[in-house]
Amino acid sequence: MPLTSIDQEKIKRITSALRNEHDRLRSKYKLLKFQDILGLSILLLCIVSIGFASMYWLKGQMSTVFLVLWVAFWTSILHELEHDLIHGLYYKKSKLMVNLMTLLVWIFRPLTLNPWIRKYWHHHHHQHSGKVIDIEERGVTNGEKWSLKRLIMTPDLLFSFMFRCVRIIREIKAEYSANRLQAKDMKMLRKTLIFGFMPIGIPAYLVFYVWVIFKLLLAFDVSILNEDTMIWWCSALDPIIYIFVLPNYIRQFCLHFITSNMHYYGDVADGDVARQTQVLNAWWTWPFQLFCFNFGSTHSIHHFIVNEPFYTRQLSMKRAHEVFRKEGIKFNDIGSFFRGNRYSESI
Ligand SMILES: [Zn+2]
Ligand SMILES: [Zn+2]
Repeated sequence: MPLTSIDQEKIKRITSALRNEHDRLRSKYKLLKFQDILGLSILLLCIVSIGFASMYWLKGQMSTVFLVLWVAFWTSILHELEHDLIHGLYYKKSKLMVNLMTLLVWIFRPLTLNPWIRKYWHHHHHQHSGKVIDIEERGVTNGEKWSLKRLIMTPDLLFSFMFRCVRIIREIKAEYSANRLQAKDMKMLRKTLIFGFMPIGIPAYLVFYVWVIFKLLLAFDVSILNEDTMIWWCSALDPIIYIFVLPNYIRQFCLHFITSNMHYYGDVADGDVARQTQVLNAWWTWPFQLFCFNFGSTHSIHHFIVNEPFYTRQLSMKRAHEVFRKEGIKFNDIGSFFRGNRYSESI
């Protein structure tokens, strides 16, 4: 459905109400002015929290389950920081600080796309949300019919590509032929395929697969390889898996599940911010929200106002939801799960 003048007025009203709320919060909480130092402090807090927990776990003073969930929680905040860095919200005058912070949030989230490459596709997402060419959201399964295949692809960006590469390449070629993708997008796609998950992502995924296979072989007593060798490799890999990989696998499952279902796909007009997302915060989503920093409640705010840090969205959420309800933004449209994330209920 094309964007009408009524839709444009609605978007203007929502954006203006959210902007007013953010201005009110800035004048109420003076601390919010120190955005750079807040961003850096949050980054250091996350790293210290992960570091201390890892130390206790390595000494045998913390359970593995607690460690994994603890790290998953803090890396969800690092994900939000990366998103803020992509939008240039910290240290605008220091490239060194931005690059250093970006590198750190990547190292602690090794299963993710190179953040300097993600920056391109994230801005693309804001321009083309809900379209075939919204590479970022489609990469995390937005728009797919729900099935076991989508469930397996949800946390895993490598499976997500491998399971669909033939179709995705065909669709991308068609979009390029129709001039909906430009030469610079195609160049960046090639760069993404070659460098997007190197040197961190692909090795991290491969190490994880090997570890999972060895654990399963040992658990079911299948002796394809020497048992002692498998036990040695598993215990050598345990620290990497439990501190860096498994928490991020769980976190990515939670984030990708929420984001791929709260964004609409396929029938959203260009620039129709009011139909790009829904608020997805039903009671049963809370285990997921815990590991994606309440993304389902707050990401819609970001589509209207992109230049606010993630923690401010938590503060503006109550007012934002009032405005959304009044203006007819959808809440907990679970039917979208059965429509391949289409906005329209008639499809
Ligand atoms: Zn979005
Ligand atoms: Zn964004």
